Amino acid sequence: MKKILIVGAGASGLACAIKAKGKNNEVVVIEKNSDVGKKLLLTGNGKGNFFNDNFDISNYNSNNIKILKTIINDKNKKEILSFFDDLGIIYKIKNNYYYPFSNQANTIKMCLYNMCKSKNIKFIFNEEVLDIEYLNNNYIVKTSSNIYKVDYLVIATGSYAYPKTGSTGYGYEVAKKFKHKIINVVPALVSLIGKDNITKNWAGIRTEVELSLYENDKLVKIESGEIQLTDYGISGICVFQISSRISRGLNNLKKENVIINFMPYFKNKTSDEVIKIIDKKNKEYKNYNLSNLFEGLINYKLFNAIAEKNLIDKNKTWDSLNYKKKQELIQNLIAYNFMVLKTKDFSFSQVCAGGISLEEINIENFESKKQNNLFFIGEILDVDGECGGYNLAFAWLSGIKSGCYLRRICDKN
Ligand SMILES: Cc1cc2nc3c(=O)[nH]c(=O)nc-3n(C[C@H](O)[C@H](O)[C@H](O)COP(=O)(O)OP(=O)(O)OC[C@H]3O[C@@H](n4cnc5c(N)ncnc54)[C@H](O)[C@@H]3O)c2cc1C
Repeated sequence: MKKILIVGAGASGLACAIKAKGKNNEVVVIEKNSDVGKKLLLTGNGKGNFFNDNFDISNYNSNNIKILKTIINDKNKKEILSFFDDLGIIYKIKNNYYYPFSNQANTIKMCLYNMCKSKNIKFIFNEEVLDIEYLNNNYIVKTSSNIYKVDYLVIATGSYAYPKTGSTGYGYEVAKKFKHKIINVVPALVSLIGKDNITKNWAGIRTEVELSLYENDKLVKIESGEIQLTDYGISGICVFQISSRISRGLNNLKKENVIINFMPYFKNKTSDEVIKIIDKKNKEYKNYNLSNLFEGLINYKLFNAIAEKNLIDKNKTWDSLNYKKKQELIQNLIAYNFMVLKTKDFSFSQVCAGGISLEEINIENFESKKQNNLFFIGEILDVDGECGGYNLAFAWLSGIKSGCYLRRICDKN
C-alpha cells in the first residue's frame, strides 16, 4: 500500500488529505502544533471568510500569472464549492465574501478535521519536520522525534506570514534542497509604515478615504474604504489591498507613495474648487475658527494634526490665511502624500507575496517538475490574493488538485 505524507495541517494540507485518501493508500499528516488549522481560526476575524464569489485572476498576484490563470476558472470554482458541500457546510455570501452560516472559522476547521477522521487519515501532532532525504524512490522524513519512510510527500507548510501559527517558512528549505527557484518572499496584506512624523498625532483615527498608489510617480492602483491611522502609519483592509504591490515594489527599490484623500466626497475636485466651497461655508459661519469650520467635514483630531503639520494654528480663522496657505492645507486634506518607508514585518502580515516559482510546478496537480512524487501546495507557492477569501481559495484548490491526483495514481497501483 502506498504511503502519502503531508507536512502541515493547515488549509491546503487538510484539503489535500481529504481528497488523497483512497482505498489503496495510507495518508498521514504531520503537524508541529498540537491541533489542526491554527491560522484558519483567525481568518475573516474569526468568522472564516473561506472563499469569494468573484473568483477571478484579477484578484491574484504572481510572477507567473499566465500559469496561474489556467486554473482560476468557473470549473474549479465549482470544484471548490462542491468540496464544501461535501463537508456539510452551509454558507452565506456577503458582498461576495463566503462565510460558514455559523459565522465561525471553527466550523470550517472542525468539518475538515471530522472528515479526515471519518476517512481514517492519521494525524501526528507535536512533531516538527526537520529534514527530508530522497533515497531509492522513497522520502525519508526526519522529525523532532521520529523517522518516516513514504512514497509521496506533500509540503503544505505555509509561508513566513504570522509565524506564531506555525508557518515559519520550513517548506522553502525543502524547495531549495530540491533546487527549486524561489521568488523573493515579502510580507503582503500588511500595514504600512510612513516616513512622516505626523503619525503620532493621528493615531487611533478611523476614517473613510480614497487611496491612490503611485509607484515611481506613476498611478497604478486606486482603493477606497475605511483606513486606520496609527502611530507608525496606515492600516485597514483597503491599505492591505495595495500592500502586496508596495511590498514587492520596495523590494525592487521602487518609490511607493500613497496619496490619501481624506475628503473623498470631494472626488475629482481641485484644491482651488475646494477652497471656493470652504470660502462659501466660511461666509455662513462667520466667527468660526478653523477647527470649528472644518467640523462636519473631517474628523477634528485629524484636521488638527494636518493643520499642525502645515504650521497652521487651528484657532485662527479661514480669512487670516493667505491663498498659498489655504492651498497647502486643502492639498493635504484631499491629497495627503503618505511616503511609504516600509511595511510591517512577517509577524503582522496575513500572507506573503513571492514563494516557490510556478514555472517548476505542474499546475494541474502541484507536483514538482524537478523531483518525482514531491508536491508543494498552498501559500508556500508564488501566489497571493487580495483580502476577501482569495488566499484560502488557492489553498483549497491546490490541496484538492494535488489530493485528487494522488488518490488516482494510488488507486491505479
Ligand atoms: C490573521 C489572518 C487572517 C486571515 N484572513 C484570511 C481570510 O479572511 N480569507 C482568506 O482567504 N485568507 C485569510 N488569511 C490567509 C490564509 O489563512 C492563508 O493563506 C492560508 O491559511 C494558507 O494555508 P496553508 O495551508 O498554505 O498554510 P498554513 O495555514 O499556514 O498551514 C501550514 C501548517 O504547516 C505547519 N508546519 C509548518 N512547518 C512545519 C514543519 N516543519 N513540521 C510540521 N508542521 C509544520 C504549521 O504549523 C501550519 O499548521 C489570513 C491569514 C491571517 C494570518
